[in-house]
Amino acid sequence: MIQNLATGHSGLTSNVFLVDGARTVLVDVGAGFDVVEAATQYTDDLDAVVLTHTHPDHIGNVDQVTDAFGVDVWGYDPAQPVVDHEIEDGEHVQIGDHSYEAIHTPGHKNDHICLYAPANGVLFAGDLIFANGGFGRTDLEEGDRELLIESIERLLNVVDDNLTEMHTGHGPSVTTNPNHDIELALQAAGMR
Ligand SMILES: [Zn+2]
Repeated sequence: MIQNLATGHSGLTSNVFLVDGARTVLVDVGAGFDVVEAATQYTDDLDAVVLTHTHPDHIGNVDQVTDAFGVDVWGYDPAQPVVDHEIEDGEHVQIGDHSYEAIHTPGHKNDHICLYAPANGVLFAGDLIFANGGFGRTDLEEGDRELLIESIERLLNVVDDNLTEMHTGHGPSVTTNPNHDIELALQAAGMR
């Protein structure tokens, strides 16, 4: 079961995905709302936090989550103060009941990763791409459009026809042919 705890919270938060199972994980923690209260509606225990990247809208709630649940935080760049444990490119991370491959996908931010589980066809895409061909901002610090395009190409090479569910850092999830949305994002990002 994957729940977006940020549903109904407008403002400057990212989406926050609670994935339960053998290892109950929050993918990103959001910002500016009571995510602990939202999480406790579904679970008393949390095993880990995994970050797609460390922009403020994705990590603002991190202290309340680690305090309330006593969990550590995994992310790509251990030099980031909020990251306790490094996830390397290509490493596999247990989220819920499945093993997700971390795909380093810079361009929006240097420490950005996507997470893909071929066994159940689920992708956490962070702020690399969004539904309907949207893609992450590249005008912020560490933003790089060429790098973002390479990252989308890289992602397309990793995900396969099994991809059935794409959960993004903002906006709605895609549950119908997400490959198409990724291809649209690649085209849109390549237009000048
Ligand atoms: Zn971001």
